[in-house]
Amino acid sequence: NADTAMYKAKLSGKDNYVFYHDEMKEELRKKSEIEGILRQAFREDGFLLHYQPQVDVNTGEIASFEALLRLKDFNISPGVFIGVAEEIGLIVDIGRWVTKEVINQLVRWREQGYPLKTVSLNYSNRQLRDVDYIPFLNNLLVSNGLDPEYIEIEITESSLLEESLQTLEFLDRLKELGVKIALDDFGIGYSSINYLSYIPANKVKLDKSLSDKFLGVHNSSVIDSIIALAHGLELEITAEGIEEYNQFIRLKEAGCDYIQGYLFSRPVGVDEIEKVYGTNLIESLNNA
Ligand code: C2E
Ligand code: MG
Ligand code: MG
Ligand code: MG
Repeated sequence: NADTAMYKAKLSGKDNYVFYHDEMKEELRKKSEIEGILRQAFREDGFLLHYQPQVDVNTGEIASFEALLRLKDFNISPGVFIGVAEEIGLIVDIGRWVTKEVINQLVRWREQGYPLKTVSLNYSNRQLRDVDYIPFLNNLLVSNGLDPEYIEIEITESSLLEESLQTLEFLDRLKELGVKIALDDFGIGYSSINYLSYIPANKVKLDKSLSDKFLGVHNSSVIDSIIALAHGLELEITAEGIEEYNQFIRLKEAGCDYIQGYLFSRPVGVDEIEKVYGTNLIESLNNA
């Protein structure tokens, strides 16, 4: 962040200022390069979605897929390009594209007879400024004859704090529409328990960093507490970023509802995801 860099430079003297100045210039150059890539990708059909299963801990069935955005021709991670898309506002158009794409894919999967439950998509804080998003979504659902409960919208816990009234209103309208709501990156923000109890969400997604920190031998009762907290608020809970079998076992013991992570599958393209469709991922894991 440029402000922090400036501040640090001030604290540490002139030489460093030059150093940070170059660093900032380099950062700006990269950013505008990514901006160009994103604008072109948006114009020229350069995005695609990957899907990652969320596995029901108790049955091993795939409960849903999360749609995750990728650039077709560039190996730049969303962790990098989503931030730029948010900054330049392009995330609004991209978000609509993602929504349309997910709904088209849902319709295709249903036509092919897959026993599909939900597909979730990510919705940034910045997309709240898309005031017509809800009617847009509603029109798509109606024109495709798709039941709203097939869609789950993931919003981050941090957006609850940043634009809280706006976010709450948005969530109420989503709920009214009948789509499901998940609170993403749960546990790394600072929402109060009281505030969480107002949120019309169905589910929270425990951030990877917390599982990594608390699913070891030490402190693992923290995970039990978080899961109890979620359930106490009548929220289901998905643990994200689970890579190891031991973590899965521990989460199962703790009563976690869903697991998403490389242990079961990476996010993959439609062709790949169709190969695992209908398979019991816990059984396949145990048989491997
Ligand atoms: P997220 O919504 O929290 O998504 C989960 C991220 O964790 C994904 O990163 C996924 O690939 C990664 N992940 C899943 N399992 C594992 C695992 O076992 N190990 C590790 N190391 N990582 C795992 P990805 O796809 O790079 O996306 C990063 C973030 O970018 C997402 O975090 C989400 O906030 C944002 N994002 C992605 N697609 C979209 C989109 O279509 N719209 C918006 N607004 N944001 C998006
Ligand atoms: Mg997500
Ligand atoms: Mg997350
Ligand atoms: Mg995230």
